[in-house]
Amino acid sequence: MSPAYDASRRDELAASLAEVHARIDRACTAAGRNREDVTLIAVTKFFPASDVEHLAALGVTDVGENRDQEAGAKFEELASDVRRDLTVHFIGQLQSNKAAHVVRYADVVQSVDRAKIARALDKAALAQERTLDVLVQVDLSDAPGRGGVAPDDARTLADDVAGCPALRLRGVMAVAPLGADPAEAFGRLAAVADVIRGDHPDATWLSAGMSGDLEHAVAAGATHLRVGSAILGSRPTPR
Ligand SMILES: *Cc1c(COP(=O)(O)O)cnc(C)c1O
Repeated sequence: MSPAYDASRRDELAASLAEVHARIDRACTAAGRNREDVTLIAVTKFFPASDVEHLAALGVTDVGENRDQEAGAKFEELASDVRRDLTVHFIGQLQSNKAAHVVRYADVVQSVDRAKIARALDKAALAQERTLDVLVQVDLSDAPGRGGVAPDDARTLADDVAGCPALRLRGVMAVAPLGADPAEAFGRLAAVADVIRGDHPDATWLSAGMSGDLEHAVAAGATHLRVGSAILGSRPTPR
């Protein structure tokens, strides 16, 4: 990569990041919330490790990835001091046979949607002598398939996660269904989060909101926003 390309990419990321921060600031003001209570996760899937380094230099503390192989390679490539200061969130669909690999680089797994995955992550974290922060992913769509546990089953799954010694239940995550009203969808997620927090007072995280709907997520009480394209640009292939 030429130094000139690198400098222009850095400027581009700085500008889009500033715009996203301004949107979050305005959304917090509108909702009467403290900006410090909302964490921005830059979703860097499809983009190179060099972009992660730029973002870290621009003050980004949290990054998200959804594909295990790509993420593993990317974080291996990162300078160790850059990696050390980042919190890495795994946000993609997960197979239990990938759990041990994900636990090698992820600080948080947001996409736990069945007990089998929770048990596999727990076993891997125990073997690696660490604890792992975990969110239960809730499916807000009527047509299951894109990942997530049905809202009615989320409480039981949260109990399963909380019962795993190496996992720390931090809260819930969801994606607003395509075509749905995000305010309504995030309202349902917030209701599920409330029930789970009643059982597990430390499960205070609500991960909701992406490039197109982060304002609705902030209004619904999101503590974590997962923003990809609004920061990094459009991805090379649709997902
Ligand atoms: C890709 C992805 C995002 C980011 O989406 P954008 O629309 O690019 O902001 C957020 N959450 C999940 C689970 C994703 O897979």
